Amino acid sequence: MIMSKTLKLRAFTCAPLIFLFVFICIYLDFGSSQKLYDSLWEPKDSNWQVVDEGSSGLLANMISKYENEQVIRFYHENPDETNDVLLYAKDRNLDIWDTSSRYTDIRLHREIVKDMISKIPNHRVLISNVSRALTNSMPNGREMKSLPPLNFNALSSMPQEAFSELYLQYTEEFYKNYQNIEAINSYLRLLSSMYSDLCELTSLGTTSEGRSILGLRIHGRRSDTHGQYHVKDENEVIILQGNAHAREWISIPTLCYSAWKLVAQYDSDNRVRNLLDKFEWIFVPVLNVDGYAYTRSEDRFWVKNRQSIKTSNCKGINIDNNWGFGFTGEGNPCDELFGGLAPFEANETYAMFNLISNTLPKEGKTTVGFLDVHSYSQSVLWPYAYTCDLLPADDENFQELAMGLTKELHRVNGRFYSHQQACIPFDGIHKHYHPGAAIDFAYFVGEVRWPFTIRLRDMGDYGYLLPAHQIIPTSREFYAMLLYYGQFISEAAY
Ligand SMILES: [Zn+2]
Repeated sequence: MIMSKTLKLRAFTCAPLIFLFVFICIYLDFGSSQKLYDSLWEPKDSNWQVVDEGSSGLLANMISKYENEQVIRFYHENPDETNDVLLYAKDRNLDIWDTSSRYTDIRLHREIVKDMISKIPNHRVLISNVSRALTNSMPNGREMKSLPPLNFNALSSMPQEAFSELYLQYTEEFYKNYQNIEAINSYLRLLSSMYSDLCELTSLGTTSEGRSILGLRIHGRRSDTHGQYHVKDENEVIILQGNAHAREWISIPTLCYSAWKLVAQYDSDNRVRNLLDKFEWIFVPVLNVDGYAYTRSEDRFWVKNRQSIKTSNCKGINIDNNWGFGFTGEGNPCDELFGGLAPFEANETYAMFNLISNTLPKEGKTTVGFLDVHSYSQSVLWPYAYTCDLLPADDENFQELAMGLTKELHRVNGRFYSHQQACIPFDGIHKHYHPGAAIDFAYFVGEVRWPFTIRLRDMGDYGYLLPAHQIIPTSREFYAMLLYYGQFISEAAY
């Protein structure tokens, strides 16, 4: 496993010098930011072609695939009704989107909707046409288009002013849509280049399909303008991971946004500066890199990673069931909750384990905060996830912090987030509903003091198909919450 290795810039096939020449010409000829913007979206040179996945990928293949599917919320008022709903879904291998003590959201084909409603009548249609909702989740016109990947070999010789302008334009466009993995990696690289004194991009490991799992390590400025180093107090670390579940796209730009704001506001906001001087922050916006790529090309609702399983032809381990605490090793590899044959079998889970348990301790650092960011249902959850029979020793402290976090989330845009223990205490089937969860390992084995799962927007109206125009509002409320979280931990006396 490759650890904390400085990311090597990816080699691009196009000739860097030609690219640089063309780009500088565009910049010098037209100068204005509007023209630079155009050079991104209406390229005259093939280096700048916008990546359009719509013609060959997801939209073309999947609009028809999901044409006759709906997402329906089935309400249950007691454990018997809960069992009825879950058993019906399990028997037919239906895709359960979310479940709570009151309801279960299920994606299903129109043909069986009638049958299910006849057995479980108390329901509400959340999404009447999944393929239409999928199309609507992309901004008009651009659909599955992503920003172009950047050629950093060429950009390194670009004049500083032009580079800054590019950074601004790329940032502005980045949050208008759900970008592909190449654009996300370019953006993280861009941030680390713009704010090289405040962050570094590292590879935490490699997925089974050979992609790098990137982490952005953010900290206070370690040297002043005269190059004089001074001691910083960042031996404590806060880790944020997103997209452990491949279809939960909103977690990716939300984490990128917070990383961006932290570095961009370091010099202008005392609160941010104190938090970066106090803690190192490690952002892993796309933990399940292979799974995410797969949701963009093959199956929008894929959950697991794409690793092969020795005992099965079915692929994939559910990353959030593969941690080494409360791990059961049960289940069918074809099931989306399958957590692997052994703890940390998933490359992605192992990479995070290695970071928390090996790399950081070797650097003399302790992980004090851990946020595992998912969607949907707007909730703040704390350990334990694997059982409801036990309360963690810090339960009261978790409740206090969680209440503060939900208030911050609500303050920004008026969205209500709930807070509770991560387990779901409603029936026999779900006694150990969530084995091998990240927050349980972080708390019980990793000795991370403040582990939470945050489930972002929405409450089910769009579910995993949250429209792109909600990226910024979701990111803003999360960022406000994150500052509160950091402040709370820095002041916590217990
Ligand atoms: Zn999830």
